[in-house]
This record gives sequence, structure tokens and C-alpha cells, in this order.
Amino acid sequence: MKTLLFTHASGLEHEMGPGHPERPDRLRAIERELEAETFQYLTRLDAPRAAATALLRVHPESYLAALEEAQPREAYAALDSDTVMCPKTLEAIWRAAGGAVAAVDEVMRGEADTAFVATRPPGHHAGVRNPMGFCFVNNVAIAARHAQAAHGAERVAIVDFDVHHGNGTQDIFWADGSVMFCSTHQAPFYPGTGGPNETGEHDTIVNAPLRAGAAGDAFQEALVDRILPRLRDFGPDLILISAGFDAHERDPLGGLRFNAQDFSEATKRLMDVADRKCGGRVVSLLEGGYDLEGLGTSVAAHVKALMGA
Ligand SMILES: [Zn+2]
Repeated sequence: MKTLLFTHASGLEHEMGPGHPERPDRLRAIERELEAETFQYLTRLDAPRAAATALLRVHPESYLAALEEAQPREAYAALDSDTVMCPKTLEAIWRAAGGAVAAVDEVMRGEADTAFVATRPPGHHAGVRNPMGFCFVNNVAIAARHAQAAHGAERVAIVDFDVHHGNGTQDIFWADGSVMFCSTHQAPFYPGTGGPNETGEHDTIVNAPLRAGAAGDAFQEALVDRILPRLRDFGPDLILISAGFDAHERDPLGGLRFNAQDFSEATKRLMDVADRKCGGRVVSLLEGGYDLEGLGTSVAAHVKALMGA
């Protein structure tokens, strides 16, 4: 098994102000955990800047121009109450999207089996024309469209286990039967979407909401009973994971009670579907996760599973 890890230093320079939970230390906590001997065979690569064509498959030029315009020369510019730009934000946005695209390139070409993209800002709340919830561009949507446009993937599946519903991703693929979007998330909770009745125009959206306080057994049950059968029937050419770790029991924002082992088990289940349906091709992108210890240990468990270890 060959597994890639994409990161970039620009992810340490994008920051949204004192006390903001989506902060550079998140990446430092991940890097610390991935220094362990288990990860010595991870192939580490710098995330390149995304080509504009890749972003333009999801976002209009006017929106990307508005982001360029909004970036401050100093201090901060708030795009909404919790999504803020600093002078270093654009570079981090382009590298996060670029890491997602490069990971898809490597895995679709068979240069690697799986990849994890440890970058920020995250992306799953970003809509076609709007930033939201710490997100500016939708990295996983850009990755899915790239797999289709550049590698001929017919069907791409996105599985999102962040504690928050990936409303941006759902909106982008609502009317697109070639991309399946499956999500476990806390509900009712921010951003308020993700009901089981939201199924998209082609019945390719699968929401499995969990009540506050739900633990790992409920997570595995939602996967096994509701998501995996749909995923197998869909038969994707690639599985993308919107890997948020804010459903961890230590997380200060989320109200679920998963542990690192739960993320490992979930990853193995998704890899099993990938092995049967798409040559084991899995690309995972970091979304949320705001307790440094919970995030670090969960990412380590997730990446270990992606390595087949
Ligand atoms: Zn989240």
C-alpha cells in the first residue's frame, strides 16, 4: 500500500483572529502525531497551488475575484461572523484546493493507493458563490469534479463524517446524479440541513443524522445500515472523504462522542467498499476537528487505516 500525505506551510499562516477554533495549531497537532514511527513510510508531499481551471469547475470567476478583493493587506476581514480572511488566506485556499486536486491525480493514475490532505481552510460549508462556516472554496467538490474532468471518473462518491452537515457539498451536487454525497452528522445542529428527507434530484444524497450524545456505535450503525449499501449500489470510481474529526468526544464544538478508534473503523469500512468497487482508490481531505488532542489522535488512526496498517 502506498499512501500520500499532502500538506503545505501556508496552512500555518492563514488565521482568523485570537481564540478562533479553526486555527494553525490544528495542523501542528496533526504533524506531531504523524511523526510516530508508524508513519515513516507515508510519502510526504507539498500541496501545489490549484490551477484556476480546477476551481472554476465549482466556483464562478466572479466569486474567486471577490475573494481576491476581500483579502486584507493587514489585520482581518470578516466575510461572515465566523469566516475571516487575513493577508495569508488566499495562498492557503489555493494550496488546500491544490492538495485535493494533486491527491486525486496521484490516486487516479495509480501512483498511490490512498491519500490524506492535511490542509486548511476546510471546504464543506462553502457554496458555489459563498463562504460559510470557516470555509471559502469547496475542496472536496473541486476534487470530485477534477476526477471526472481530468481522469474520466463517471461516478464519484463523497462520504462526510464531520459533526456538521456538509451543506455546501450537498447543494453543489443536489442535481448531479454522477456524484453521491453521504453524510453522518449531528442534528439538529449547525448549519441546520441534512435531514434524511433531503435526497437530491437523483436520489444520490444520503443523510444519516445522529442525535446529540450519540457515540461510536451509532456512527458505525449509520454507516453499515444506511450509507455503505447505497455506496456499494452506486459503484463509484473513486471515494472521497470529507474527514472532519469534530465528532470526537473531546471536541468543544460538537456534541457527539466518537473516539479515535471509531474513525479508524469507519475508514476501514470505506476502504473495504473501495477495494470491491474502485480498486481501493480513496482520497481523504481534512475538514473540522477543534480539540487538538482529539484531532491529532483521530487523524493518526484515520491515516493508519488509510495505510492499511
Ligand atoms: Zn465541522
